[in-house]
Amino acid sequence: MIRIPVEQWCIAVERSDAEATRRRLGEQGLLDRRLRPRPEGSRVLLPVLEPIQGTIRCAFEAFPERPELPRHELVGGIAIMQEVDRAGAERLLSSRPSLHTVLFPESAVGGKFRTRRFTVLAGVPTTRTQVVEYGLRFNVDLARAYFSARLSTERQRILSLMEDGERVLDMFAGVGPFAITLAQRARVVFAADVNPAAVRLMIENIALNRAGNIVPMLADASRLDRIDLAPFDRIVMNLPLAAARFLPVAFNLCRDGGQIHLYALQEREGEYLPQIRLLTAGDVRERRVRSHSPGRWHAVYDICVEKR
Ligand code: SAM
Repeated sequence: MIRIPVEQWCIAVERSDAEATRRRLGEQGLLDRRLRPRPEGSRVLLPVLEPIQGTIRCAFEAFPERPELPRHELVGGIAIMQEVDRAGAERLLSSRPSLHTVLFPESAVGGKFRTRRFTVLAGVPTTRTQVVEYGLRFNVDLARAYFSARLSTERQRILSLMEDGERVLDMFAGVGPFAITLAQRARVVFAADVNPAAVRLMIENIALNRAGNIVPMLADASRLDRIDLAPFDRIVMNLPLAAARFLPVAFNLCRDGGQIHLYALQEREGEYLPQIRLLTAGDVRERRVRSHSPGRWHAVYDICVEKR
């Protein structure tokens, strides 16, 4: 079949940056998924939906048309749908060979362990799967421990900020995606969670990725400064509804000049700055990570700890 090229805006990136940029554009809703990216010399042309900085017009081949599929989010071999549509779930399952299960969330993310309840709409009756992220593999069980594939770019961003040989603490580690990513440059990563199921999966994931420099801990983050672990060069705090409450503990554990990454769900820019300013006069950078619901978004505060 002859396919007529389609003209679209695009960004040219070096081959080595192409996968990371494609993911980032996808997460930002800018990637034109109907068109096939194409190589050009040492670079790859990525089609985007609107003109942004550095875009040019180029011709692309369209992917073959697929039958209309229900909206879904992919986590490894699981698709999470937003409606109870069993026929749509069966279509989804047969359209993607990598899928083994289609789920519908019966509840929002909730409780101390930040988990959800699911109904199986199609496929193998399981909430367990394996996710591959930037060459790392994570076993997840969506009903028993929190995991979000949408933070993959954020984990790479923190990795890119690191110096080799850092001492890192992940206070709310879940199944270990931040800890295992950052262990690639760290000397040691201490990774705590209060959910025993999450810690069990984290131990599996440490073995799966042969990460020999992570100390998994079944521990409450509020008590970590009672253990003789400090000082840390970098601390990750990914508990967006409540992490700010644990900031004083994180400041006790971080060295002067170290960095804390505080993830927070907020409705106003700078909402958590007053709490941060009670503890440090150091540099603070705030970034939007992803939207949550109308008027609310996940932000990250990169905080430089300056001890008075
Ligand atoms: N960092 C992981 C990730 O990105 O997938 C998990 C983040 S999830 C939003 C927050 C995690 O914090 C959950 O796994 C939950 O069990 C854990 N948690 C909640 N309260 C905690 C506490 N007081 N101490 C340690 N972990 C806690």
